[in-house]
Amino acid sequence: MSLQADYLIPINFGLSEERKMMIDMLKKFKEKECPKDKIAEWDEEQHFPVDVWKKLGNEGILGACFPEEYGGTGGNIIDETLITEEISNSFSAMGLAYLTGVCFGGMSILHYGTEEQKQKYLPPLIAGDTNFCLSLTEPGGGTDILGALKSRAVEQPDGSFICNGTKIYTTGMHVADTIVLIVRTDDVEGKPAKGLTIFLVDRENPGKQETDGRLLNQPFSKGITYNKIMKLGSHILASFEVSYEDVKLTKQQILGKRGSGWYDLLATLNNERIVCAAICVGLAQGCLEEANQYAMEREAFGKPIGQFQAIQHQLADMATEIELSRLITYKAAWMQASNPTDMANGVIASMAKMYTSDAAFRCTDRAMRILAGAGFTMEYHIQRYYRDIRQLVFAPITNEMSRSFIGQVMLGQKKSY
Ligand SMILES: Cc1cc2nc3c(=O)[nH]c(=O)nc-3n(C[C@H](O)[C@H](O)[C@H](O)COP(=O)(O)OP(=O)(O)OC[C@H]3O[C@@H](n4cnc5c(N)ncnc54)[C@H](O)[C@@H]3O)c2cc1C
Repeated sequence: MSLQADYLIPINFGLSEERKMMIDMLKKFKEKECPKDKIAEWDEEQHFPVDVWKKLGNEGILGACFPEEYGGTGGNIIDETLITEEISNSFSAMGLAYLTGVCFGGMSILHYGTEEQKQKYLPPLIAGDTNFCLSLTEPGGGTDILGALKSRAVEQPDGSFICNGTKIYTTGMHVADTIVLIVRTDDVEGKPAKGLTIFLVDRENPGKQETDGRLLNQPFSKGITYNKIMKLGSHILASFEVSYEDVKLTKQQILGKRGSGWYDLLATLNNERIVCAAICVGLAQGCLEEANQYAMEREAFGKPIGQFQAIQHQLADMATEIELSRLITYKAAWMQASNPTDMANGVIASMAKMYTSDAAFRCTDRAMRILAGAGFTMEYHIQRYYRDIRQLVFAPITNEMSRSFIGQVMLGQKKSY
């Protein structure tokens, strides 16, 4: 397989006036609504600012990639990429909320939801009144998800389903109104990818209106209980272990086709990888800006440390890797937007996710060395970048599996797992 597109590539690295205006607007929005000191406070309090989500909706940012008939502005994955990159420059946890809400929840409904589901879920998402979370991974493991997935929804004589099982790392559940839940409904001998079904589970949480994003100790829908997972980074968007006990689900809650949940998920996978890469590009860029500024101000031996070649080279390496990250991410977004069914899109989207997360990981390490002691304190922002990037090298897919996928699909090697 070649990543050389066989259609004409008009080489143009500039952005349209509309897209430049969108990014300028986002920069101003961030300064006003979520300056870095506020983000540091929310990180310490483990608080997700739902009012900022709502304001992103008011500004039209959440609807940038949805058709106008649902309240969007008709953009595509390139807009999703630019938005996520800009937000994640200072606020990668909000980039993650955008990933699960818009790119995963909203786009899945747009691609394979019924018209009724689109009407019900998309306008409130676009307005910033609601969000989604994804409940797929189970305690048995995320990489071998088909082997580990034990949760089941069993059909009842009246056509409804009763669901039981445990999920782990369901992120943003406390600020999502709808859980996108993937469970087994059918067994197909020797074919674990078949028989999975996606359900849209609305949380019935009477206390919802009272929350401003802090964790509530109220029960979710009947039969759904959760435990918050203490984690190293992305404190602003909490993750949960969730137990589903005799939860009643209806046929109307099925998203896509019964039994083909795995294949439906694949339809939005490239977008997810690309948006994930955009989070990494933004995060790395923000980290470089912090380190560069510090190197101009901090003095040693009578001059700014940025004047030492060793420091300049670290900064130059960061800048170069970020530029390469941006190029592969934009190319992946452009290929996906130009020809969504091209099989090569999956490869370049995986490369982008893998390369950008590894590169951003290295950038946070270099920045930490440049700031030295200051970087290790909670007074500076670098420690947050350093903590927040770590999950992106293994979630939503591990970089080991991304490499295996590239080896198999692009290079024709035998499947390694
Ligand atoms: C903060 C956070 C947020 C998350 N958010 C969500 C969410 O919202 N919803 C959700 O459903 N899930 C979520 N996840 C889960 C995430 O997708 C998984 O963590 C990820 O898929 C990896 O699974 P695992 O952690 O179980 O690692 P494992 O699958 O146990 O893997 C452990 C190690 O073994 C390696 N490995 C396994 N098999 C192979 C192989 N064949 N070849 C080479 N190496 C291999 C892996 O690459 C990894 O290094 C989140 C996770 C985290 C930490």
